[in-house]
Amino acid sequence: MEVHSRDYAKRARAILRDTPGVREAVTAATRSFDDHRRSAFAELDGEALRDWAEGVKSHALTHLDRYLEQAESRLMERGAHVHWAETAEDVHRILRELVEREGVRRAVKAKSMLSEEVGVNPLLEAEGVEVFETDLGEYIIQLLGEPPSHIVGPAIHRSLEDTQALFSERLGTATDASPEELAGAARGILREAFLAADLGISGGNFLVAETGSIALIENEGNIRMSTSLPRVHVALVGIEKILPRLADLSTFLQVTSKSATGQPVGTFVSIIQGPGGSRGGEPDGPEELHVVLVDNGRTRLLADPEAWEALRCVRCGACLNICPVYRQTGGHAYGYVYSGPIGAVISPGLVSLEETFPLPFASSLCGACAEVCPVRIPIPHLLHTWRERAVEQGLTEGTARSLMKGWSRAATHPRLFDWIERAMAVLPDGISRRLPMLRDWTRGRSLPRATGPTFREIWKDGIE
Ligand code: SF4
Repeated sequence: MEVHSRDYAKRARAILRDTPGVREAVTAATRSFDDHRRSAFAELDGEALRDWAEGVKSHALTHLDRYLEQAESRLMERGAHVHWAETAEDVHRILRELVEREGVRRAVKAKSMLSEEVGVNPLLEAEGVEVFETDLGEYIIQLLGEPPSHIVGPAIHRSLEDTQALFSERLGTATDASPEELAGAARGILREAFLAADLGISGGNFLVAETGSIALIENEGNIRMSTSLPRVHVALVGIEKILPRLADLSTFLQVTSKSATGQPVGTFVSIIQGPGGSRGGEPDGPEELHVVLVDNGRTRLLADPEAWEALRCVRCGACLNICPVYRQTGGHAYGYVYSGPIGAVISPGLVSLEETFPLPFASSLCGACAEVCPVRIPIPHLLHTWRERAVEQGLTEGTARSLMKGWSRAATHPRLFDWIERAMAVLPDGISRRLPMLRDWTRGRSLPRATGPTFREIWKDGIE
């Protein structure tokens, strides 16, 4: 996927100015996800679960080579083809060869952020393959030609009215069609696609090293259809998705679903261990299973001692749902497939800080993301790390750097700090709104007007 993160501020401003309905739709949907998450964890020892999940993922990542080779052996024993893709171009080459060899004309796709990351749809379409996104949210954004706005709910930035208008125009449904009627219209089209497809493409929520099992969580049943009806199934799995043991899987399935939507577990969980059909000794299922283990920047990030923890992410979206910054714009402002707090710390590691700057600054550092993360990714700490690097690399604006230098000087010189504090307390709004360093902050609020003694005066009196 192309990266447009350098335009974050411009894109965020445009969304807030031109499509105010986005803020409303995203805030309502993320609040609802977050409320369900709270209820799901209310009666559990969430802290113990998070400690455990953090430990398992960290262990798996620090023994990645061993577990990946184990998973590869198990998969091959069961008749799967395993491919290693170091880059997005490698994924393209593998898919291109498959399309040519198998004469693929139609593909059905399950929701997969990795497939967005490596640009699967444009590649297949360039090869003359008709691609159908089969998750309802993904289907909606495919009709719109947009990337996903959220890891779990790709179309959460759209209202019901938006979808009614879209389906009426593209699928001929009534302009006041109910959600059930809209889903029915999409289902009618997708059923045909499932039956006619030569190729099914999925991601993989987890890959179990011990058994070579790929686990997929969903709510609509489309992943099961995409992975079992077409003749060939390709699973694109990020190498960080590894879990050591099958016994780890059931808890991770629950932790991920509860953190994402508050469900005890996804409505459908598919566990795939090899091809089906005559090759796999099964009555149905695909004749061929190709598992593509994708790196695309992950080993580079893993080798970064200050930033690797972002790879523990299970893509539950809980940090997006609670983030006051993400809620204002949804995911499109971030200009890359991963948005919100996790996007701000994983995108610089997977792509580069230069291309994804200023995402690490798209945060108020309130810390809510770290409190909800089921695998304890220290997101605020990682944001600081990337910010420090951005300053060191000269990516921040000269004005911002000068202001921070000025602030540093004031904060370490008590007399100067005292003078500024007193001056600010009497500075008229008309002047503060014209000063470059205060203009934005004071646009919607006044400077605090202290009437009594300052904190430092109270502190001094208290200790004398
Ligand atoms: S960083 Fe944590 S909360 Fe955010 S998507 Fe990843 S696992 Fe979920």
